[in-house]
Amino acid sequence: MKILVINCGSSSLKYQLIESKDGNVLAKGLAERIGINDSLLTHNANGEKIKIKKDMKDHKDAIKLVLDALVNSDYGVIKDMSEIDAVGHRVVHGGEYFTSSVLINDDVLKAITDCIELAPLHNPANIEGIKACKQIMPDVPMVAVFDTAFHQTMPDYAYLYPIPYEYYTKYKIRRYGFHGTSHKYVSQRAAEILNKPIESLKIITCHLGNGSSIAAVKNGKSVDTSMGFTPLEGLAMGTRSGSIDPSIISYLMEKENITAEEVVNILNKKSGVYGISGISSDFRDLEDAAFKNGNKRAQLALNVFAYRVKKTIGSYAAAMGGVDVIVFTAGIGENGPEVREFILDGLEFLGFKLDKDKNNVRGKEAIISTADSKVYVMVVPTNEEYMIAKDTEKIVESIK
Ligand code: ADP
Repeated sequence: MKILVINCGSSSLKYQLIESKDGNVLAKGLAERIGINDSLLTHNANGEKIKIKKDMKDHKDAIKLVLDALVNSDYGVIKDMSEIDAVGHRVVHGGEYFTSSVLINDDVLKAITDCIELAPLHNPANIEGIKACKQIMPDVPMVAVFDTAFHQTMPDYAYLYPIPYEYYTKYKIRRYGFHGTSHKYVSQRAAEILNKPIESLKIITCHLGNGSSIAAVKNGKSVDTSMGFTPLEGLAMGTRSGSIDPSIISYLMEKENITAEEVVNILNKKSGVYGISGISSDFRDLEDAAFKNGNKRAQLALNVFAYRVKKTIGSYAAAMGGVDVIVFTAGIGENGPEVREFILDGLEFLGFKLDKDKNNVRGKEAIISTADSKVYVMVVPTNEEYMIAKDTEKIVESIK
């Protein structure tokens, strides 16, 4: 099947046209500055990159432009739109409604709309994308794949916050967790590579990118994860603080004479390794500053980041009663041998031995523990789009 995978942001739209049987990416691209001036579509196909400058006043314009590019006689990859068998939409928040991917119908769309209050920055854009595709391709089946769904298997004692219970029942305040598609993909892929049934494995998946989260995946099911009610909780991230004492918020409001919203904005955009280093949210910049220039605050930022990852890995081994596999993925997890080594240093009591030569790998699937290591340590590049295409294929096959 040819599946169009769509990931809509408020002013952007990422897409991939994927041949689901082998994961071959026929074309991919990005529409930027939708609804703003100077909108631009970058389309990659057949080894070429084409930039198309054209006004896109909304997501519908963007989808039309994407489809035009896909069927274009020069740089297109299909003859006709009818070759697209299905569309898979990444949707950030599925609340407690969705425990897996679903075929989109009116009820599903309503439930995704109900989740807007939980993800006000993300779900509206995802809905825009779904509605635009529905208008332009009314007969093509569409599937929603949720960032939260994989984590819906968490037990209540892991997802409930110790605050008055009625806030959970009244306002749905609980841990949801994010990056679910990535945690699911890399845990399944790790089991495949090891040729072991996932139902017998305790896996800790570390998705370390601009946004970072860790999941405890026991017997193929997420039993805990570090992001919470929103993607702000947990690890120190590029610009996000991760977990802090909530009292800091009212304290800062008073000291800096700012609103709660302003504090939360600081915690989302000016904190994390950027906030500590004062240099950058990008780990390449931080590593250069710390190791080449001896910058102390960059070193401190890396220390804070690695320490939180280390603590979380340890706590998830405790949550699962052990660990068989530790997986690293996403920008930093896939491409940062130094950061991986730094994180794992001192955690050997869990039962792994890191092979420093094998760890010297970037962006490729690899087992980076020694042959006699009791616990496997692996690098598995994430592929959320492929996972979305596979889920979409499975659901569309099942309704045929
Ligand atoms: P997201 O998808 O959350 O935007 P990514 O998964 O692309 O983020 O990760 C981005 C992060 O990965 C950046 O901090 C970047 O510095 C880091 N990264 C990418 N390549 C490398 C590398 N070679 N070494 C260290 N970090 C890297």
